[in-house]
Amino acid sequence: MSTSVLVINCGSSSIKYALVSERREDRIFGLAENLGSADARIKGVTMGGAALELSIPHADHEKALETILERLAHHNPQAIGHRVVHGGTLTKAELLTPEIIERIREATPLAPLHNPAHLVGIEATMRLFPELPQVAVFDTAFHQTMPSHAYRYALPKFLYTQHNVRRYGFHGTSHAYVSERGSMLAGSFKQGGWLTAHLGNGSSTCAIWNGQSVDTSMGLTPLEGVVMGTRSGDVDPSIHSFLASNLGWDIYKIDKMLNSQSGLLGLSDLSNDMRTLIEASEQGNEDAALAIEVFCYRLAKSLAGLSCGLPRIDGLFFTGGIGENSAYIREKTVSYLPHFGFNLSKELNDNLKRGTEGRIDHGTGPQIWVVPTDEEGRIAKETEHVVDEVTASATKKSDAEAAIA
Ligand code: AMP
Repeated sequence: MSTSVLVINCGSSSIKYALVSERREDRIFGLAENLGSADARIKGVTMGGAALELSIPHADHEKALETILERLAHHNPQAIGHRVVHGGTLTKAELLTPEIIERIREATPLAPLHNPAHLVGIEATMRLFPELPQVAVFDTAFHQTMPSHAYRYALPKFLYTQHNVRRYGFHGTSHAYVSERGSMLAGSFKQGGWLTAHLGNGSSTCAIWNGQSVDTSMGLTPLEGVVMGTRSGDVDPSIHSFLASNLGWDIYKIDKMLNSQSGLLGLSDLSNDMRTLIEASEQGNEDAALAIEVFCYRLAKSLAGLSCGLPRIDGLFFTGGIGENSAYIREKTVSYLPHFGFNLSKELNDNLKRGTEGRIDHGTGPQIWVVPTDEEGRIAKETEHVVDEVTASATKKSDAEAAIA
């Protein structure tokens, strides 16, 4: 299969879409937002780069998907690839069948904010386009190669064996793409030991050995790990009993605080947006400066910890909105890893053009690269791969049946 794949990422009131063809520059993409409200609309970019803005008042997921597909139908997508955050113990992208949809539903308690929204999108596209092959690509799948000493919590065994309580990891599509692309740029495709730092509104780190994830910062849910826009990252789990006993908070309030009011926003009491914090700290805002410092220090600590999973470190890849665009955050983070022998070039780091890939070290010690992530491209590639595999095995089966007949 060689033409285009429609990539869909359904949130609770939004749908991100991208029509991915072989040429990255031909990509059509957009966002349907405020679904279910009078203000529902689609904003995007058409072929050739023209802006698109379309009002779709009160449209739900199904109506929005119908509108998106109507507009894209003449590009003749060959398949649909759905981003699904939690695949439970599914280890790779899968063709959507009733059984796989059930497995996604079963993983809902592990991703209560994400999986139900994905299921709405999946069910709508299956109803609207029953003839198109559809594939689920999981954020968790790439991390299924982690060894048990990395994915098990030191908790009673039955919580793992009977209730699947373990570390899963997320952002797998991004870590997989960036480590593959980065190791290729470094001349050692899928070989050696690499650390990736995906730094956006959600952030995570990963250790990759010979192309496989061996450890990552996120855990049972995307709350564990480094400091994020509004998520706390690691905290002492006793925070729950402390807040319940002393402030009378219930579990929902604590969960909301840890997920939506913490991280950069909580520390700075100003914003979850790194650009805003950098500007504020330059103007003397001490809370913003502290938020940045905690972010970089804890990030470096996470990378240092993950390095235990690697026999050797060949280098570090930065990606995500912050990792790709902020030389300041990259420099500060590397400065907290003095004993790893990284030799960042201030000139190369400062001068790297936004949105481009490039090496930013002096050429001695472990390499440091910026690699813009491409989750949509990776989802499209995995979707094509699954469809090709299914087609090949169906052809083989019908050949075998013809031979017997
Ligand atoms: P993402 O979730 O990957 O889109 O990344 C969003 C984050 O990237 C936000 O915190 C932005 O402030 C941050 N970001 C984007 N551009 C810059 C920049 N030039 N400097 C610092 N942070 C940036």
